Amino acid sequence: MVKAANLGFPRVGLNRELKKAQEAYWKGQASLEELEKTAKELRARHWNIQKDAGIEVIPSNDFSMYDQVLDTIAMVGAIPERYNWDGGQVDLDLFFAMARGRQEGSTDVVAMEMTKWFDTNYHYIVPEFKADTQFKYSRDKAVKEFEEAKALGIETRPVLLGPVSFLLLGKTNENMNALALLDRLLPVYEEVLQKLEAAGAKEVQIDEGVLVLDLEPKAKMAFKKAYDKLAEASGLKITIATYFGDLRDNLDVVKTLKVAGLHVDLMRAPEQIDDVIKAISNGIFNDKTLSVGVVDGRNIWKTDLAKALAKVEKAVAALGSDRVQVAPSCSLLHSPVDLDVEDQLDDELKNWLAFAKQKLQEVKLITDAVNGNKDEAAFEANKAAFDSRGSSSRIHNPAVKDRVSGLTDADAKRNSPFDVRIEAQRELLGLPILPTTTIGSFPQTQDVRQARAKFKKGELSRADYDSFLEQKTKEAMEWQDAIDIDVPVHGEFERNDMVEYFGEKLDGFAFTKNGWVQSYGSRCVKPPIIFGDVSRPKAMTVRWSSYAQAQTKRPVKGMLTGPVTILQWSFVRDDQPRETTCKQISLAIRDEVHDLEKANIRVIQIDEPALREGLPLRKSDWDAYLKWAVDSFKISSSGIEDATQIHTHMCYCEFNDIIDSIAALDADVISIETSRSAMELLDAFVNFKYPNEIGPGVYDIHSPRIPSQDEMEKLLTKALDVLDARQIWVNPDCGLKTRGWEETKPALEHMVAAAKSMRAKIEQEKAA
Ligand code: GLN
Ligand code: ZN
Repeated sequence: MVKAANLGFPRVGLNRELKKAQEAYWKGQASLEELEKTAKELRARHWNIQKDAGIEVIPSNDFSMYDQVLDTIAMVGAIPERYNWDGGQVDLDLFFAMARGRQEGSTDVVAMEMTKWFDTNYHYIVPEFKADTQFKYSRDKAVKEFEEAKALGIETRPVLLGPVSFLLLGKTNENMNALALLDRLLPVYEEVLQKLEAAGAKEVQIDEGVLVLDLEPKAKMAFKKAYDKLAEASGLKITIATYFGDLRDNLDVVKTLKVAGLHVDLMRAPEQIDDVIKAISNGIFNDKTLSVGVVDGRNIWKTDLAKALAKVEKAVAALGSDRVQVAPSCSLLHSPVDLDVEDQLDDELKNWLAFAKQKLQEVKLITDAVNGNKDEAAFEANKAAFDSRGSSSRIHNPAVKDRVSGLTDADAKRNSPFDVRIEAQRELLGLPILPTTTIGSFPQTQDVRQARAKFKKGELSRADYDSFLEQKTKEAMEWQDAIDIDVPVHGEFERNDMVEYFGEKLDGFAFTKNGWVQSYGSRCVKPPIIFGDVSRPKAMTVRWSSYAQAQTKRPVKGMLTGPVTILQWSFVRDDQPRETTCKQISLAIRDEVHDLEKANIRVIQIDEPALREGLPLRKSDWDAYLKWAVDSFKISSSGIEDATQIHTHMCYCEFNDIIDSIAALDADVISIETSRSAMELLDAFVNFKYPNEIGPGVYDIHSPRIPSQDEMEKLLTKALDVLDARQIWVNPDCGLKTRGWEETKPALEHMVAAAKSMRAKIEQEKAA
């Protein structure tokens, strides 16, 4: 019989119970026992949800107090020296110290780095490896959680992060390949498998996500070696789980591995099904079970049950029903917990959605159907939901579709090339060299957040809220005038979040109440849902930019979030290509740009901090993405006068591999994060001879430190070494909304003083 399986469940809890317990513990407001009690309750609740949904293969050790990669670091004892580990069992305090740093009295140990988990918005803790890194079994969490479930009467399949992925996801400080450590690491994994077996486990899921990336021959060999060993180490049946993409050439390696099962993602990569089935049935170890991921673990849409069933039937026809499992495409970690509580969503929209709990019900329905127990009514209802989604006028707006299909190359192009535009802009704006500006937001202080909360609850009227915001904006404008910022901003006091704010004003977006997904540690985000064709019923920001402009003679910079970032940070509809949805958003932003220009806002910034993270996992897929991402930005920023100046902002520093696409955006000015790396990343721009203007951040806004004037002058001197003085803008690394005014005010005063002093030096040099 085909079995219903799951790969992982969201940990944080429907009401973010884990987040609250973690944060209370970190603040010293709750004991370790209280935190552990909450964690235990959540695990039990989540196992029971899965059991009640009829899932037969239920994961354990998918829970984490912070992150599963950090769990693995602790399990194998890869603790960096700076934490002064005594070599014993890794306890929670050491665990959290690695995640968050440790500050006690005179000790100040920094946290381990964090980075994005594949192409998700989940961040993992990056393992640190050195040539002499040793491994040792140091945390028995996997065994404990298996036993905990067993005590509740639930037989689970423990989840481990695989050894090859663990090594490849880490960073090495020397010029070494982390795979050199594999021989030392494998014995720990063997020990873990033996301990799990001794505790009564029969099988294990080993996640090897790197199998969907471009792998070097060395890595492929490492897989062979690792799984030859692990297969012998115990009697456990090993299922290798892959997700977020297709195996492509890596399938050749996978088919030779002596493992009992393979999980593949048939949502992201449905086309791999035939190759996978062929490889599994012709491989040397040709009795593998295939786990087919046919329910999207990364998005919130209902599964098309008939389509999913067809994929499963194909696998069953080739392999037989005992060798097939039905599962979500990846761990449900990336999906919100339960749609049932979203009582503010209307029934029609709700009927198109499925969160983690509902996805498991779908897995079960598909499994039952393939086993000959098809719930006809459920399949009928599912078909009806898809039919309504296919034809609903809330989703389909012919005018929007026509506009997108009518787009031509000319729509994604400014009227004149940069060298012509910049002359017109200089003439219009009359700015000094090294003009000063900021990235958009000013501190979102307690009073700002409180006023918004009151307004949302209906305790503050629209008029009172607006006049509060006007007051804030006015103060910010006056202060910027007083300290001589050349291009002031209104401050974004009216915005909760740079995507949500626009989503709320656009048609085609919906918002959840509890649709949280873990971003890192205790942090969760609640992405908007783009369910329909996107359009802009009316201007979204003109009111605030105009109000700000009325307060000053200086050119105010209007602030917009770019189409790629809005797309990237939302749950995106799956019934049309992402490119199409992105282009729809880009047209809405374009309309806003045009309205701002009409309102005489002649400097407009379109933020694209998420452009890079949208890059596909495989390099060969990059060009196609970059083409439409760049086009979307250009559609948003074109059709305006030459003298209107477009800025963009990106707050990260890996530009080297996409620098030509950044240049292709053809923004008149780009601001980037550079202060931490002391301008290092400017190299990319210099080597490339970046033609337009650049604002390399001179103030690290991620830290409460107040940089001195001198420090910023030094950074500017570095920038001036490699760029033309007329190319350079002076600004912080990113928006200031997370900072307080106590730091922001002196820091920006120093920044303006640094710019003025550098201008004077340049004048002197010219005169000399
Ligand atoms: N304009 C935004 C702000 O200042 C940009 C934020 C970002 O880059 N993430 O807050
Ligand atoms: Zn930023």
